Amino acid sequence: MKIIGLIGGMSWESSAQYYRLINTAMRTRLGGVHSAKTLMWSVDFGEIERLQHEGDWRSLTGLMIDAAQRLERGGADFVVLCTNTMHRMAGDIEAAVSLPLLHIVDPTAAAIEAAGLSKIGLLGTAFTMEQDFYTGRLAERFGIEVLVPDAQDRAIVHGIIYEELVAGIVSDISRRRYREVIARLVDRGAEGIILGCTEIMLLISQQDSPVPVFDTTELHALAAVRTALGA
Ligand code: GLU
Repeated sequence: MKIIGLIGGMSWESSAQYYRLINTAMRTRLGGVHSAKTLMWSVDFGEIERLQHEGDWRSLTGLMIDAAQRLERGGADFVVLCTNTMHRMAGDIEAAVSLPLLHIVDPTAAAIEAAGLSKIGLLGTAFTMEQDFYTGRLAERFGIEVLVPDAQDRAIVHGIIYEELVAGIVSDISRRRYREVIARLVDRGAEGIILGCTEIMLLISQQDSPVPVFDTTELHALAAVRTALGA
């Protein structure tokens, strides 16, 4: 079994889900009391969140490279970055360590392809919805057309992530607002919805959407288990 190197803490609310999902899947795959071999470097999200909103992507890249190097020194076999947003610097991380990075978009796109869908709504942080690193990979590598919410809805989705979900606050009012955003994406032609922020699964599940949802936390965690088992 390979050692999974997790870069966590963005936020720890979702990293805890990764830990649960990975170990549950490993026990299911191997039976008995088997569990995954993992290392996690978990950051202080207070620092990360400030740098993100200051637009200091250079410092953030340095922190992500530092995290990956710690995992490399610790003996991890590959890197799982437990956040969609910070995949903005996936290429810089890959260049800085000899470990492979399991990109969160790839298992997500594979699931969308397997479902036979090609036009997808994306919910995530403003950084993920508005910058090209995420929608570009979906479009260029996988031919998936991405619809993002309009500016007002993007502000709602982003605000609920940073004001509530990363602090572990899950509210019915916010769930209702997300459901409305999803409904508007479906009206515009979305055939499925990517939960493209690793905390959204705390709030939204399949029953909140009339079209299939693609939970990046679960898809990424399960891909990590397959990779660890050499599949
Ligand atoms: N976990 C979130 C994501 O998947 C947001 C937190 C962060 O900015 O890293 O994008």
